[in-house]
Amino acid sequence: MEEAARKIKVTKTTKSRLAEVDFNNLVFGKKYADHMLVADFDGKEWKNAEILPFQHLSVSPSNAAWHYGQAIFEGIKAYNDQEGRPMIFRPYDNYARFNKSAERMGMPEVPEWLFIGGMAMLIDLDRDWVPSNEGCSLYLRPFMIAADEFIGVRPSDTYKFAIINSPSGPYFNKPIHLLVQDKYVRAFPGGVGYAKAAGNYGGAMYPTMQARKQGYDQILWVDGHEYKWLQECGTMNVFVIIGNRALTPDLTNGTILAGVTRASVMTVLEEMGFEVEERPVSIEEVVAAHQNGTLREVFGTGTAASVAYVEQLDYKDHKISLDTTQYEVGAEVIARLDAIRTGKVPDDKGWNYRI
Ligand code: PMP
Repeated sequence: MEEAARKIKVTKTTKSRLAEVDFNNLVFGKKYADHMLVADFDGKEWKNAEILPFQHLSVSPSNAAWHYGQAIFEGIKAYNDQEGRPMIFRPYDNYARFNKSAERMGMPEVPEWLFIGGMAMLIDLDRDWVPSNEGCSLYLRPFMIAADEFIGVRPSDTYKFAIINSPSGPYFNKPIHLLVQDKYVRAFPGGVGYAKAAGNYGGAMYPTMQARKQGYDQILWVDGHEYKWLQECGTMNVFVIIGNRALTPDLTNGTILAGVTRASVMTVLEEMGFEVEERPVSIEEVVAAHQNGTLREVFGTGTAASVAYVEQLDYKDHKISLDTTQYEVGAEVIARLDAIRTGKVPDDKGWNYRI
């Protein structure tokens, strides 16, 4: 924090927009907190780090990120504890993932003073923007884009890093319907699936639109070779509860984003007495478990949704319907995670970064 305070210039807003926000009717990603952080990489080092009133960025039409997609981001949440003091949930995990994404996209590493220290200074300044009402949080969005004004195809020399924050409302745990298909693929070994790179999301839009036309919410992505090994669903990791076992696809071939919620859910499931099996999981195994009556629950996990129950899972002629009103495991996982994130129970795992 000291290094951040020394290196980051702070210009406070003279006109807070806080009063304009209806905290009882928050819509995700529409309103942004008073301040943002920006910094420039000049080819050698990060400089011009500044916290300033939220405002537009001025970007050239020849900006390299717009043309060739050197763009990465993160999604993190800050909650208030029971005394109303803000805490960021596991920011160091997102920080590590951000730099992994940066490496894969040929972008520079962001130093800790800028990512963690800058984020902490920003939340400190905008602490009144962290909602206290049940289920609400401040969604933090660090991102980095190429900044060269050059349309030749090569890694940019210069980059811009920024953090913007959006108060977000309670996530209504509407059960989701998933489609497993063998037409579109999200990621493949050697690709960029494990990176939180903007292009991964752009590439998923069209297939997801097609699935939505058929009445599904998301695609449950599988591999592009045998079209049967589960990867993730939408912007969530996936868990399958079979008897007393919790299965989730392993991360070894680099096709899956290593979710921070995924890691937290694995820990919580173990504490609940489940055997967590992190290994290749095929859709055939899920179908077989459904057929023999041992499939209990399927859910997605992510920062935005926390835990999203799967109500329908369709694969070829197999239509798996699950009664999510009976989801005891998912419900317990949500309750335990919420208790930790809002300081209702002691943080024995050190997951909360207190401001
Ligand atoms: N997979 C993808 C593709 C995602 O975008 C996200 C959201 N970041 C996740 C999984 C879940 O990751 P996390 O739990 O860190 O939010």
